[in-house]
Amino acid sequence: MCVECVKVKCPDRVGGFLNCGSVCLETGSYLVNFQGCASCHSRENIQIQNRHTDTDDEEGEERVTYDHVCAVCEHLIAEHQYEFRIEGEYQEYSMVCILCGRAEDTVSILPIDPNKQLNLF
Ligand SMILES: [Zn+2]
Ligand SMILES: [Zn+2]
Ligand SMILES: [Zn+2]
Repeated sequence: MCVECVKVKCPDRVGGFLNCGSVCLETGSYLVNFQGCASCHSRENIQIQNRHTDTDDEEGEERVTYDHVCAVCEHLIAEHQYEFRIEGEYQEYSMVCILCGRAEDTVSILPIDPNKQLNLF
């Protein structure tokens, strides 16, 4: 893991995980926070390597890890970790990465969120 390639180490992703999810969820990189490769000074691109998925079907858990590496010299920029689990009627997401930042989110798997309904009364 390298802190010289990023502008901000583990930025807090305001708006929660899902708002940035499509950017960094599966194979993406949070390029806005990419300072440039500290090794070869390229800002060209970031590659994803060593993608690894662990699934625990009984627990309804999934953990994805991958490395962000410089597309030019393969310098390791950041290690990305993303977790997904089902807690009762909720899906919980969390992400930690010095490039993409830190984010958590909880989403009801029901069409109507019971917590929000309660607030109406
Ligand atoms: Zn670096
Ligand atoms: Zn490089
Ligand atoms: Zn990342």
